[in-house]
Amino acid sequence: MYAFTYERPATQADALKLAQAGGKLLAGGQTLLASMKLRLAAPEQVVDLGSIKELQGIRKEGNAIVIGAMTRHCDVAESAEVRATIPALAALAGGIGDKQVRARGTIGGSVANNDPAADYPAALLALGATVHTSARRIKADDFFQGLFATALDEGEMITAVSFPVPKKAAYVKFPQPASLFALIGVFVAQTDGGVRVAVTGAGNGVFRHAGMEAALDASFAPDAVAGVKTDAGEMSSDLHGSSSYRAHLVGVMTRRAVAQALA
Ligand SMILES: Cc1cc2nc3c(=O)[nH]c(=O)nc-3n(C[C@H](O)[C@H](O)[C@H](O)COP(=O)(O)OP(=O)(O)OC[C@H]3O[C@@H](n4cnc5c(N)ncnc54)[C@H](O)[C@@H]3O)c2cc1C
Repeated sequence: MYAFTYERPATQADALKLAQAGGKLLAGGQTLLASMKLRLAAPEQVVDLGSIKELQGIRKEGNAIVIGAMTRHCDVAESAEVRATIPALAALAGGIGDKQVRARGTIGGSVANNDPAADYPAALLALGATVHTSARRIKADDFFQGLFATALDEGEMITAVSFPVPKKAAYVKFPQPASLFALIGVFVAQTDGGVRVAVTGAGNGVFRHAGMEAALDASFAPDAVAGVKTDAGEMSSDLHGSSSYRAHLVGVMTRRAVAQALA
C-alpha cells in the first residue's frame, strides 16, 4: 500500500478548497478505489464528499429535476419525483450495475468519470441536461469530450445535474453481461427543442445521432428509423462485439427506445 491522506469535509466550500489544492475527490468510490488498487491512480490526498449534505438529494425546480452530485443511483431509481416526471431516468439508474454498485455509485462520480459505456452520459445528452459545478453551468452538449474526458477544469467540482422534463423519453441498453455496462445504450427524448438521441457504449464516448434525430423529428415512430444508417467505422470493436454488430445494435436499441417511449 502507498500512503495518502484522507479528508472528509462537512461543507462544499471546504471540499472545494481541498480540491483546488490538488486533493482527489471521492464520491461512491466505485471507479476511483479500483483505480487506486490497480495503481492507475495514486492521489496524495483523497477528499471524501460523503458527509456533504448540500451535494445530496433530488428536487423539482420549475420544469426541471435537479439531482445533487452525491445522490446515489439507488436513490434516483427509487425517487417518487423522478419516477413521476422522467421515468426513463429512474429506470436507467435502476439498471446501472448491480445492487452494491447502485448503493454506492453517484451521479456526480459517473458524469465526472465519463466512461464510454456508462449510462448517465446518454441521459444527460439526450435530455439536454446542464451540469452545475463549483464554478459554472455547463450544457451536456459541451460537457462530454470523448474517452474519460470532460469540460471540467482541475479542482472544479460537480455540485448537481439538472434535467428538463421531456415530453416523452426512454432508455434501452444492451448490457455487456459480465460488467452490465452498455455494449450499446440508446436514450431517446422528445423535448421542446425536438427529438434528441444519445448513444453510449459505441465508441470513444457518448454522442448524439443526427440521422436518428432527423428521422424521428419527421415521424416519432419505431419504423421511422428503419432506413437510418449508423457508420460502423465510428464504432469500437472488441471481444464483446464487432463494430458492425454495434452499429446494428444502435438501430435495434433506437427502435425499442422509441416504442417504449410511446408505450
Ligand atoms: C461492477 C461495476 C459495475 C458497474 N456497472 C455500471 C453500469 O452498468 N452502468 C454505469 O453507468 N456505470 C456502471 N458502473 C460505474 C458506477 O456506477 C459509478 O457511477 C462510477 O464507478 C463512478 O461513480 P462513483 O460515485 O463511484 O465515483 P468515484 O469512483 O468516487 O469517482 C469517479 C471519478 O469522478 C471524480 N468525481 C467524483 N465526484 C465528483 C464531483 N462531484 N465533481 C468532480 N469530480 C468528481 C473522482 O475524482 C474520480 O475521478 C459500474 C461500476 C462497477 C464497479
